[in-house]
Amino acid sequence: MSILITGGAGYIGSHTVRHLQSLGKEIIVLDNLQTGHRKSVDVEKFYQFDIRDTEKLDQVFKENDIEGVIHFAANSLVGESMTDPYKYYSNNVYGMLCLLKRMYENKVEKIVFSSSAATYGEPKNIPILETDPTKPTNPYGETKLAMEKMMHWFDIAYGMKYVSLRYFNAAGAHPDGDIGEDHGPETHLIPLILQVPLGKREYISIYGDDYPTKDGTCLRDYIHVLDLADAHNLALEYLLDNNDSEIFNLGSGNGFSVKEVIEAARIVTAHEIKAKVTDRRPGDPAVLIASSEKIKSRLGWNPKRENIKTMIEDAWRWHKNNKNGFDDKN
Ligand code: UDP
Repeated sequence: MSILITGGAGYIGSHTVRHLQSLGKEIIVLDNLQTGHRKSVDVEKFYQFDIRDTEKLDQVFKENDIEGVIHFAANSLVGESMTDPYKYYSNNVYGMLCLLKRMYENKVEKIVFSSSAATYGEPKNIPILETDPTKPTNPYGETKLAMEKMMHWFDIAYGMKYVSLRYFNAAGAHPDGDIGEDHGPETHLIPLILQVPLGKREYISIYGDDYPTKDGTCLRDYIHVLDLADAHNLALEYLLDNNDSEIFNLGSGNGFSVKEVIEAARIVTAHEIKAKVTDRRPGDPAVLIASSEKIKSRLGWNPKRENIKTMIEDAWRWHKNNKNGFDDKN
């Protein structure tokens, strides 16, 4: 039996593929390579097409013995979703509809879904609980919430079971330095900070220092990509053993300010890393910190790389050795 990983050539997808392979699981990757990298995964079965191509999708389910799906394939840039919501509704929501339909027809009834803290919008309570209200403030978050609801109704109607993982800020890279984050364009804080010591950027912009936080900059809950990968494995095992649908937050429970992350990067890289305060980025909540107690108690998830310095060290190893990301790989 194998596990189908859609979007398996992306940042979190490729680390999950690597982690499950290390546990001896048989993996099939499906990715249209719109944002993913073929070189980020080493698998025997790699399909390159779009999940909205339902005939090809059907073929994959027919020619393999698939027991469950981990679904990453989606667009994930908040800013882009504000200017191109069509892309997000089509790829994310319609893509999910195509996937669930073909899963149902082929009697594959278990799915682990890559959801997001963006489903909550501006939080009322910190730390955020899974039971808190979901009011997304951008199309990206809206589409992730719509995908969760689709799974919910497919469960009620057809008995398809899901675990949805609402991640906070994914960070870090595989400690062996072989795979890591490679987005074009890059919008995330840690890789952008590391572009300064790499000589690719003069300074890092701090998007606002007038937030109601300890140093005026936004607080985020960073979680190591390998701890995320481990959570996907536990979620899949839970589904296979319990046949029960659930939603879990995934964060470390610690909030770090933008200034604290820059300071940690200065220590890790031994580089001064110039920073300049600029305007706020529209749509950024001041504080996003998860309560991850539910996944800890229900699935026994136990993050091992919670230290922000460890995340930056791992990211630094990857970026230093692969200045142009996967383009540097043979
Ligand atoms: N941020 C920043 N400068 C940058 C990129 C990001 O100050 O060049 C801030 C951003 O406003 C947010 C935090 O860093 O408060 C994390 O942003 P990121 O885009 O990495 O993740 P998000 O929280 O948006 O998912």
